Amino acid sequence: MPTQSSVLTFEDARSVVEGHASRLAPGEIESVELLSAARRILAQDIAADRDIPPFSRSTRDGYAVRSADLTKLPAQLKIIGEIKAGPLSDRSAQTLQEGEAYSIMTGAPVPAGADAIVMVEHTSQQGDSIEIEKSIEPGENIVAQGAEARREAIVLKRGTQLEEAAIALAASVGRSRLKVFVRPSVAVLTTGDEIVEIDAKIGPGQIRNSNSYSLAVQIHDAGGEPKILPIAPDEPRRLRELIQEGLQSDLLIMTGGVSMGRYDLVEQVLADLHAEFFFTGAKIQPGRPVVFGRIPCGPGKLARAGISGSAPRPDFSKYFFGLPGNPVSTMVTFDLFAKPMVEALAGMLPRPLTFPHVRLQSEIRVKPGLRRFLPAILSGRYENAQVQIVPWQGSGDIAARSRANCYIVVPPDRDKIPADEWVAVMLR
Ligand code: AMP
Ligand code: MG
Repeated sequence: MPTQSSVLTFEDARSVVEGHASRLAPGEIESVELLSAARRILAQDIAADRDIPPFSRSTRDGYAVRSADLTKLPAQLKIIGEIKAGPLSDRSAQTLQEGEAYSIMTGAPVPAGADAIVMVEHTSQQGDSIEIEKSIEPGENIVAQGAEARREAIVLKRGTQLEEAAIALAASVGRSRLKVFVRPSVAVLTTGDEIVEIDAKIGPGQIRNSNSYSLAVQIHDAGGEPKILPIAPDEPRRLRELIQEGLQSDLLIMTGGVSMGRYDLVEQVLADLHAEFFFTGAKIQPGRPVVFGRIPCGPGKLARAGISGSAPRPDFSKYFFGLPGNPVSTMVTFDLFAKPMVEALAGMLPRPLTFPHVRLQSEIRVKPGLRRFLPAILSGRYENAQVQIVPWQGSGDIAARSRANCYIVVPPDRDKIPADEWVAVMLR
């Protein structure tokens, strides 16, 4: 067993992880085509190649006017031409003089002299002039040149996850390729004599490995490259070999074998490998026996622990998680603790974990003392969102978890939450 076991509150355990995550350095960089960069993590700052917008832009179809001409209403203005969106060379606009207006289209450059756009709906045309019955503020319906970003300003920061708006922004500043971080490799090691591979002929008392697969999905979503190792038996020698193999990846995530049972050997084997444990439990349910630590991989200890392979990170240690084997516990503890480490290794800027509030549909009763993450269904339409727990058989119930689309977060001091109260949820 580790020399000291420490069970932390959820918040303390989470901030221990966040502290370590903030000191991680991401790995290699590769250059990829714009669309292949979708959802990847940007490895460079992107600057605007020109002002955005590059010219003062009309946001409406209507008439470019001098607002001062509309102080006395109704106003009659002479239409002296039309400006549509398009190359500037097509623009024959001259400076607008008193009493004049240009017909202008959405997205077109505002001509010199004009300081507002009157919407076409607020005008009536008579021959080559318009009548306007409504005054206008200077600047109305115009986005000024450079108002969204100045030339050379950083518009996308290194560490940004490239969602659709970021991809659109990169396209708009002329980037057809982007530098992104290479996905960090994350080893997945499941333990237990009863666990067998999906395709194996299954006997009574055996359980198919599902945790390696849920973890692989979560690791990939967090920006990592999962590497599923063979199943480790509850036997120290082979378990140690497989842990050593897992330590060649950037992060090792184990599942099972961290509870208090006689065959829960993971912590013992990690301790033999000189592991440092940051916590060996968190006051949560599901997922209480979660373990987080690191194993020194410096030159001396590297040899002693028999670790070889990939280049050690600057601090010469590899981080590991021991997640409880019950499938829902594995999923929850990955989201709560392992995810920020995978994201940091993937180069993502840290982001706080937030729990929005939703109206509770039916009462919840629990034993107090632990922060609970109960599989739940968020339903209702538009503003009428509501949430209710999914009936379940506990942290082994994958079927219940698969019917859920979020977790209700119950604080440790509550034993009863009445219907209609606003409760915190963790969205997926
Ligand atoms: P443990 O944490 O090793 O005590 O395991 C807790 C429960 O989770 C036991 O019922 C295990 O059979 C189950 N379990 C452990 N690992 C897996 C896995 N990879 N896939 C599915 N169930 C698992
Ligand atoms: Mg086990």
